[in-house]
Amino acid sequence: METSSQSDERPWQFRAACRGIDPELFFPKSSSREDKARTEQALDYCARCEVRDDCLDYALRYEEFGTWGGKTEEDRGRILLERKREASKRVHPTAQAMDETEPNTERL
Ligand code: SF4
Repeated sequence: METSSQSDERPWQFRAACRGIDPELFFPKSSSREDKARTEQALDYCARCEVRDDCLDYALRYEEFGTWGGKTEEDRGRILLERKREASKRVHPTAQAMDETEPNTERL
């Protein structure tokens, strides 16, 4: 997969398992069965890619769309949301305590 010009490529991208592969596998246009099958193919490339961690780190910072680092955009959205929650708990420790408190359903 090549999504930028040669001069924009990061060193890890030269070792990508998806190098030269049709980028459409990694950027589904719909949620059709065909596009889901393409995404599964993309994830197969990612599963055997030696730069998967670098790719995922990059995508979590800069890429909103597509499959990167073995994660779909929905997967990355969940990772980023979890990171925000964890960061919030570090800044506001009471938020964690409130999350862990079960609602008292006896009074409801
Ligand atoms: S992890 Fe997947 S998207 Fe990233 S470089 Fe490797 S094959 Fe390509």
